[in-house]
Amino acid sequence: MSAVKYCPECAGKLEDRFVDGIERKACTSPGCDFVYWDNPLPVVAALIRYKDDIILARNAKWPEGMFSLITGFLEKQETPEQAVEREVKEELGLDSEIKGFIGHYSFFAMNQIILAFWVSADGELKTSEEITEVKLVPKGSSTRLGSAVSP
Ligand SMILES: [Zn+2]
Repeated sequence: MSAVKYCPECAGKLEDRFVDGIERKACTSPGCDFVYWDNPLPVVAALIRYKDDIILARNAKWPEGMFSLITGFLEKQETPEQAVEREVKEELGLDSEIKGFIGHYSFFAMNQIILAFWVSADGELKTSEEITEVKLVPKGSSTRLGSAVSP
């Protein structure tokens, strides 16, 4: 699913066409070979230890009861680690320190690759407008975590 409709090189119309075995958007103008590859977007996720708890947050757009790690898109010329620290500061008002890389997770439904990090955070919890609710889950608790991971 893509909102791209026109060629950024010649402004021609894009059509669905199989290129390298996958249906993609390709330019219809004669002589223009533009293909919109629609590569997955990297997204960072932070599993945050704050004091003795793990922080989960609910985005203002999400239904009641749905919580996630703090996530966000990488910005231009930003490393994943810098993106994590920026997002934790923006969304929760906390200073954070990367403790380790957890892993990468393909999220095909959103065309994203999620890079997850362990983070320890300090400071006074102060959420942005994007965050409606925060849940502090005691470390080692058996609380089932929500399934959504999306910026
Ligand atoms: Zn074109």
